[in-house]
Parts: sequence; C-alpha cells; structure tokens
Amino acid sequence: MDFELTQEQRLVKEMVKKFVDEEIIPVARENDMKCHFPREILKKMAPLGLLGAVIPEEYGGAGLDFISHAIITEEVGRGCSSVRTTLSVQVSLVELLIFNWGTEEQKRKYLPRLCSGEIIGCFGLTEPNAGSDAANVSTSAVLKGGKWILNGTKTWISNAGVADIAIVIARTDKTKKHEGLTAFIVERDKVQGYQTRDIENKLGLRASNTAEMIFQDCAIPEEAMLGGVGNGFKLAMSALDNGRFSVAAGCVGTCQACIDASVSYARARVQFDKPIGSFQLVQDMIARMVVETEAARLLVYKAAHVKNKGEKSTFVTSIAKYFASEAAQKVTYIALQIHGAYGYSNEFPIERHYRDARVATIYEGTSEIQKLIIAREILGLKAFA
Ligand SMILES: Cc1cc2nc3c(=O)[nH]c(=O)nc-3n(C[C@H](O)[C@H](O)[C@H](O)COP(=O)(O)OP(=O)(O)OC[C@H]3O[C@@H](n4cnc5c(N)ncnc54)[C@H](O)[C@@H]3O)c2cc1C
Repeated sequence: MDFELTQEQRLVKEMVKKFVDEEIIPVARENDMKCHFPREILKKMAPLGLLGAVIPEEYGGAGLDFISHAIITEEVGRGCSSVRTTLSVQVSLVELLIFNWGTEEQKRKYLPRLCSGEIIGCFGLTEPNAGSDAANVSTSAVLKGGKWILNGTKTWISNAGVADIAIVIARTDKTKKHEGLTAFIVERDKVQGYQTRDIENKLGLRASNTAEMIFQDCAIPEEAMLGGVGNGFKLAMSALDNGRFSVAAGCVGTCQACIDASVSYARARVQFDKPIGSFQLVQDMIARMVVETEAARLLVYKAAHVKNKGEKSTFVTSIAKYFASEAAQKVTYIALQIHGAYGYSNEFPIERHYRDARVATIYEGTSEIQKLIIAREILGLKAFA
C-alpha cells in the first residue's frame, strides 16, 4: 500500500489547482447569483484534458487513472460544485458509459467531441415516478419501421437544457421490470419531438443546468441504442458507480474549501482580544472538519484504486459517496458556524458551499439508498428487488 501520489498525479493536482484558483473561484459567486451556466469555463477546461481525464487518448481523452480523476474532480469541487456537477455528468455518467458500453462506432463518434467540449452530454434516468426506484421508468421506446419512438418525461436531469446529446433510459418491454429497460443516445439537433424545460430556483447548484426532458413521438435511429436491448438498468447502475465516485470526490473538494476558508477566518477574526482560532471550541470545529475530510478523501482514493484495477466498485463507491456527501453536510455547517454572521452572507463563499452541498446526499442515489447497497453486500439480503 502506498499513500503517496505519483509524480504524474502531483503534476495533475498542481495544474488543476492553478486553473481552479484562476478561472473558477473568481467567478463562482457571480455565476451563482446570475444562475449562469459557465460554458466558457468548460471551453478552457477541455484543452487541459479536464473534460476527459479517464478516457484513453485514442478517443480524445487524457488517458489518466482514477486517482487523477478524483484529484481533478476534488479540485473543481473546491472551486464550484455547479461546475463540478457539469463535469461529473460529462465524464462519469456520459463518457464512461459510452466508453464502457458503446460500439466502436459510437465511441469514435461521440467521445472525442465530448472530451474536447465541442458537445455537452446528459444522462436521463429519473422520472416523476421513478427516483430511488429507478427501475420504475415509464418513458417508452417502441421500434417501428426501423426507428425507436420515444414517449415520456424525465425530470431533474443535470445539463439537459444545454446538452447536445442525451443518454436516455427507456422501457422497451412492459412485461419486465429491470430487464425491460434499454439505453439510447439521443442527438438533440437531429430529432423532433424532444423538448427540455429548465428547473428554476434551486436551493443550490445555481450555475448548473437542471431540466425536464419531454419526449413526444420522438423518432431516433435504430443504431442509437446503447449496450443492447434489455440492458438499460445494468447500464444505468454502471453509470452511477462512476457518477457516485465523482460526487464523492467533489464533496471532498467542498470540504477542503471550507477548511481553507475557516482556517483563514479563524486566524484573522478577533474576539475577546484573541483570534477566534485560539479558542478550544473553535479548534474542536477545525479538527472535526479535517478528520471528516481526510477520511472522505481516503475512501475516494480507495474506490479509485479498485476502479484502476478494473474490478467491480459498487460497494466501495457507495461507501465513499455516502461518507463524503454526509461529511460535506457536517463540514459546510461547521464552516458557517465558524464564520458567524459573515458565513450567512454571500460576501464569503461558505454560504454557497453550504447550499450547494445539500444535494449531494440526494442525487446519484440518496444516502438511504447507499446504506441499503452497503448493507446488502454485507448481509446478503436485499431491501428491494
Ligand atoms: C440538482 C439535481 C440534479 C440531478 N441530476 C440528475 C441527472 O443528471 N440524471 C438523473 O437521472 N437524475 C438526476 N437527479 C435526480 C436524483 O438522482 C433523484 O432525485 C434521486 O435519485 C432521488 O429520487 P427522488 O428525488 O425521486 O426521491 P425519492 O426516491 O422519492 O426519495 C424520497 C425519500 O425517500 C427515501 N427512500 C426512497 N426509497 C427508499 C427505500 N427503499 N428505503 C429507504 N428510504 C427510501 C429517499 O432516501 C429519500 O429520503 C438530480 C436531482 C437533483 C436534485
């Protein structure tokens, strides 16, 4: 076991840290206030390889390992969870799904354009009546005259309003539940009967796009199917294995941002003639933040290690996602407490991190669902089918 980063991983960290400090942090507050989706930041991330870190170079990616992917995602999360969410969807849900399940033709067609930021992707699983019970998807896909006809509504889909391509999980067989689902790649500007409607006034992630997707007799080519008929649920779960990893890494970044801000504040803010950081109760808060963050980071690295070996990572990923997303709740709360009234204002970044962190225990599977996955592995008993 080696706890040291490699030379390559250290260089990645240095490079992405500089980018986040110079390009993401200075505009994060304004983008949040204006609910501005920062496409211009994504354009600058692409040449650095940040939009396709774990995708092999032959498909336009940077060919890095999962520890580097975690480092990149953590650093972006340190700057802004909205950008990090966009990144997580692009790389972990869309690119890796196409890389792992696509035909050679699909990989060559989409991956270089996704890695270069030329196109943006989204992943549509959730529906009004299919949240945690993801296999309950009712959006239908029926094969008619050589085309798949999509009908139905997806909701709460990150990037959907700005995405050029969408991976959509739809029901192709009503007589089956999990095995009745299939994944499709929908190219927005090539189809009719596909609309999106942005979801406004979110608590956080205000610079990230979240939208509904509405399909009304939307015809897509037969070859738009991804990974085989009846494999949609399997694909969705494999996407979430990567998406949850990315969320966990992003949460570590949020926690680190809170530690950095709180340490500066606790050193500078004087009460009772002393920096507040010299009071033991404030030191207790700093220590708790550091322990939560360090433990979350190590769990993310452990999941990355399993992914690097190409082994199934559902169990370790769920542990990392559960712990890191819950840690982000505690750490953002403590950071706001350390900042007192100033933490309650958007003059400091803590207020944004506090709001942005809240979704992490909900999306890509709630904390309750992560615990059921973890317990299922240990008990050998399923809470649901
Ligand atoms: C900002 C944002 C972005 C999102 N992006 C995407 C995206 O890109 N793609 C996508 O497909 N989806 C996306 N989602 C949807 C997200 O994945 C779902 O919200 C999530 O899976 C939970 O589903 P739900 O909200 O319907 O809650 P529900 O499933 O209705 O759950 C409500 C509550 O009941 C609990 N619960 C449910 N079932 C059980 C059970 N069996 N045991 C114990 N407790 C249970 C849950 O843990 C939760 O506390 C996004 C959501 C948000 C808020």
